[in-house]
Amino acid sequence: MTLDRRSFLKLVGAGAAGAASLPLIGQAAELMPKSAKRVVVIGGGYGGTIAAKYIRMMDKSIEVVLIERNDHFVSCPFSNLYIGGILTDLNPLTIKYDKLAANHGVKVVQAEVTAIDAAAKMVTTSKGTIAYDRLVVSPGIDFRLDEMKGYDAAAMEVMPHAWKAGPQTVLLRKQLVDMKDGGTVVVTVPLAPYRCPPGPYERASMIAHYLKANKPKSKVVVLDANPDITSKGGLFKKGWKDNYEGIIDYRPAKKVTEVDAKAMAVMVEGLEEVKGDVINVIPPQRAGQIAVAAGLVGDDKNWCPVNATTFESTKQAGIHVIGDACVAGAMPKSGYSANSEAKICAMNIVALINGKETTELSGINVCYSYITDKDAVSVAGVYTVKEGKIIAVPNSGGVSPADFSATKTEAMYAESWLKNILTEMST
Ligand SMILES: Cc1cc2nc3c(=O)[nH]c(=O)nc-3n(C[C@H](O)[C@H](O)[C@H](O)COP(=O)(O)OP(=O)(O)OC[C@H]3O[C@@H](n4cnc5c(N)ncnc54)[C@H](O)[C@@H]3O)c2cc1C
Repeated sequence: MTLDRRSFLKLVGAGAAGAASLPLIGQAAELMPKSAKRVVVIGGGYGGTIAAKYIRMMDKSIEVVLIERNDHFVSCPFSNLYIGGILTDLNPLTIKYDKLAANHGVKVVQAEVTAIDAAAKMVTTSKGTIAYDRLVVSPGIDFRLDEMKGYDAAAMEVMPHAWKAGPQTVLLRKQLVDMKDGGTVVVTVPLAPYRCPPGPYERASMIAHYLKANKPKSKVVVLDANPDITSKGGLFKKGWKDNYEGIIDYRPAKKVTEVDAKAMAVMVEGLEEVKGDVINVIPPQRAGQIAVAAGLVGDDKNWCPVNATTFESTKQAGIHVIGDACVAGAMPKSGYSANSEAKICAMNIVALINGKETTELSGINVCYSYITDKDAVSVAGVYTVKEGKIIAVPNSGGVSPADFSATKTEAMYAESWLKNILTEMST
C-alpha cells in the first residue's frame, strides 16, 4: 500500500501546522514542537518522577516532559518482601503516572529513549524526537554482563536477578515456591558500588524467612564478592544468628564471574563451582544504558560524574544525572537518595533557567531492611557538599540499635516510609 501526502498527514495527525515537522528521510519526526522553556526527564522511577513534579511545582512556566518506557513503575524497595511471601502481590509497590499529569501538568510520554544529542539538545525516542533546554537523566541501572560469563537474556529467565522489580521478581518468587524442601538457594552479590547496598542481605533474609516457615530443610548460600557485608553488617549478622542459624550460609570474598544455566551452577573466579536449585544472580552494575550511550559515564565507564550542587553532568553541558546512575559521593545508590537528589536538582534547574543563584545540596537517606516479617533495621545519613564533593555530615546518621528486635518500631517506620515516598512520586 502506498501513502499519498494527504493521507500521510492525516495518519500522523499533523495537519497543516504539523507539516513543518514531517520526518526527513532517515530522521525521526519531532514528537512535540517546543514553544516554552522545556525540561525533559528520562525515567519515571524514584528520581525522575520527583524531578519532573518538583520543577512544575516550582515554576509552572516551564514545560516538563517525562519519558518512561513503561506505563507503570514497580518499586524495588519492598520487593524482597514479596519474594519472601510477606506481600502477596506487587500492587502496593506499583504506581501510575496519570496524577503527575493531572495534578502538575507533567507531559508523560511512554516511549524508549534511544539517543541523546547533547549538542542539538534533542532526545530521540521510539516515537519521535523531543527538544529540550535542560535534560534530567534518571535511568537507574543496567548490568555489566561482560563480567558475568554466560549470563545472557536466556540465562536471566533461569537464574533471575530480580534487581529491577516486575516480572523478574515474580519469577524468583515462583521458583522458591516450586523448589523442593531440602533445596539450596544461591544468592550472588557483586562488588560495590551497586544499587541498594543492603539489598542483597535483605533478600537473603527474606528468602530464609520463607524457607524457615515453609521448607525448613532448605538453605541459602550467599556468595558475596565483597570482603564483608557492605551495609549494616553487624545488624544482619545478629539477625541471622537469632533467626536463621543453619539456614543462611554467608561466604565473603566469593566473586562469581561465570554462570551455567543448564547445569544450575555458578563459578567463583574460575576456581570453585557452586550448584543451586534456585540461583539469584545479582550481576555487577553500571548506569542505565542510555547514560552510557550518551557519553555521560566517567573514566570508570560505569557511573556518571556530576556537579555536586546542580547534578549537571561534568561530561555534557545541559544534562543533569540523578539517582543510581550518578556519582553522588558518600550518598548510597538508594531510592531515598534519588528522591533527595531529584529535589535539589529540580530546584537548581529552575534557578539556572531563570538566571538565579543555585542552592547547595542538603541530602538525606534512610534505608530500611527487613530481617524477619516483624523486624527491620535502618541506616540513616545526612549529606552536604564540601570542596565540590558530597560528604556525610559527621555524626549525623547511624544505624539501628543492636537490640533492634525489642521494639518492632523500625518495621512500622519502614512501611510508613514506603507509603509516603510512593505517594509523593505518584500524586
Ligand atoms: C531489592 C531492592 C531493594 C531496594 N530497597 C530499597 C529501600 O528499601 N530503600 C531505598 O531507598 N532504595 C532501595 N532500593 C534501591 C532503589 O530501587 C534505587 O536506588 C532507585 O530505584 C533508584 O532510582 P532511579 O531513578 O535512579 O532508577 P529507577 O527507580 O530504577 O527508575 C529508572 C526508570 O527509568 C526507566 N528507563 C531507563 N532507561 C530508559 C530509556 N532509555 N527510556 C525510557 N525509560 C527508561 C526505567 O524503566 C525506570 O522506570 C532497592 C533496590 C533493590 C534492587
